[in-house]
Amino acid sequence: MFFDNEEEFVDDLEELFEKMNMEEEKCPECVQCGYCCKHTPCYYGKWNEEKNQCEYLTEDNKCSKYNEIVEYENSINLKIKMFGSGCCLNYLNPDRLKKLNEIKNNKEG
Ligand code: SF4
Ligand code: SF4
Repeated sequence: MFFDNEEEFVDDLEELFEKMNMEEEKCPECVQCGYCCKHTPCYYGKWNEEKNQCEYLTEDNKCSKYNEIVEYENSINLKIKMFGSGCCLNYLNPDRLKKLNEIKNNKEG
């Protein structure tokens, strides 16, 4: 058999999936690195071919539609809002890692 102890392997796997589900619910915070908006526009976004990013992303990686989106989502009583729900693209995201590093260095310096 490929695995010495199949039962133990299945237990480990269940534990892993449980952990992954738990972690998925708790997305890490958004640090405004802009990476997501430079890859795929969100529901409210619009792709700009020339800039190769969402039309509404500002130079300092902020969403210029922020107020509009927050107002709209409040008006329809949306439970899970787009902003404040954490980072949707944290895995192997070089821009987020860079931003986190900058934040850390600013705190230390
Ligand atoms: S609308 Fe705002 S949050 Fe959505 S992709 Fe564009 S810049 Fe990002
Ligand atoms: S990739 Fe994550 S941290 Fe960066 S702007 Fe998007 S949600 Fe925020």
